[in-house]
Amino acid sequence: MYDYDFFVIGAGSGGVRASRMASSYGAKVGICEDYRVGGTCVIRGCVPKKLFVYASEYAEDFQDSQGFGWSEAQHNFDWTRLIAAKDKEIDRLNGLYLKTLNNAGVEVIQARGRLVDAHTVELSGADGTRQITADKILVATGAWPMMPDIPGIDHAISSNEAFHLEDFPKRIAIVGGGYIAVEFAGIFNGMGADTALLYRGEQILRGFDNDLRNKLAEEMPKKGIDLRVETNVTAIDKQDDGLHLTLTDGSVLVVDQVMFATGRVPNVRNLGLAELGVEMAGNGAIKVNEYNQTSVDNIYAVGDVTDRIQLTPVAIKEGAALAETLFNDNPTVVDYDYVPTAVFSQPPIGTVGLSEDEAREAYGEINVYRSEFRPMKFTLAGRDERALMKMIVDKATDKVVGAHMIGADAGEIIQGIGVAIKCGATKAQFDSTVAVHPSSAEEFVLMK
Ligand code: NDP
Repeated sequence: MYDYDFFVIGAGSGGVRASRMASSYGAKVGICEDYRVGGTCVIRGCVPKKLFVYASEYAEDFQDSQGFGWSEAQHNFDWTRLIAAKDKEIDRLNGLYLKTLNNAGVEVIQARGRLVDAHTVELSGADGTRQITADKILVATGAWPMMPDIPGIDHAISSNEAFHLEDFPKRIAIVGGGYIAVEFAGIFNGMGADTALLYRGEQILRGFDNDLRNKLAEEMPKKGIDLRVETNVTAIDKQDDGLHLTLTDGSVLVVDQVMFATGRVPNVRNLGLAELGVEMAGNGAIKVNEYNQTSVDNIYAVGDVTDRIQLTPVAIKEGAALAETLFNDNPTVVDYDYVPTAVFSQPPIGTVGLSEDEAREAYGEINVYRSEFRPMKFTLAGRDERALMKMIVDKATDKVVGAHMIGADAGEIIQGIGVAIKCGATKAQFDSTVAVHPSSAEEFVLMK
């Protein structure tokens, strides 16, 4: 007899969903967390990041309002006040997560978990160390920022620390060209920091449709971001006037903070996985089959620790699928096709399906529809910012296989488009849909 039917290590998006659902299906469930219930997304990721994005967007809104008859006013941004408000909201959400778990009958244990054998977890917390046993165990420990090994890297921060900086940096460099880098470049720039975005490759957001990448790279500098591609940091030296970053071209950039957003690696350290013989992939991720089962039969893994698609809603789906499979007699696999996603850059991006290049490779003959325009709001505002929308259609079947947008509300718009594409909508069906007017979204049904 085990202490639990199901024990989960890590109370982030995937672990919380799996544990709640398992409990609702009658399993005796425990979950341990060594930091805060809610995980990266709620505590130091998606949620506080989006609050920061909102905060940073006011700068432009204040400017734009003058084109609509509002007078110029003095605006001061108070970082300390924002952090306090954000912390309060995160505390509230953390409390809600705890309450939901408690209401669902899941036992929450504040401790770090480590596998001792296939059915035993050692829990280390403030009140010491103890062991529990479980029939089935889920590892849902997420991922952790990867910091490259360069001289002076100790002076750099990751997104984890960016949420708690005591002083707002007047000058900041962000290293990387992925989701986190472009989002934080917009955040700090909007809040008034001199912001440099340094990316080692030719163009930011590798893997996204090229038109989106190029458009974002065109718009960011207009907002004041010093975007430098084919540039990396080779050393960081702390001096009296700030951090001196040595760049690959030999020049030096002096900043108050440097934040690395250079990817996130699966959080597998000190979990006892290797000792147990749990198979790992080359990149350190836990290998699982389509049912989220590892090479050790009763041990499962979901979310970023498996490094499939590092997105909260995907981890949630994986956690739910696992609970269905194990405790509701309903074997469920997650469908990874057409996962829509948003990048909360400024302007934001919404995307679903294949990029133009990917579609050409997959389908050969494709039709590409493209629309670039100045959103209505920016006419009176006098803002020189353009939106771009794009649809990729398989010529043989008329099926829409990709939809991409950069422009205001792209994240909101792409969710609905994602449903249509997931249902296999054709271009003709998009065309037969009546437009919502006047909106930017209507372009998706008007493209010729
Ligand atoms: P990404 O994998 O998106 O991007 C990492 C970036 O860092 C790439 O541009 C990469 O360059 C660069 N890089 C990697 N190693 C180095 C190095 N040694 N030196 C310099 N640059 C380097 O990771 P992020 O950290 O931005 O985000 C992690 C994940 O979190 C994302 O993949 C995403 O799935 C998720 N996320 C989702 C969000 C959302 O849904 N809005 C928001 C934030 C995160 P290169 O392209 O050359 O490899």
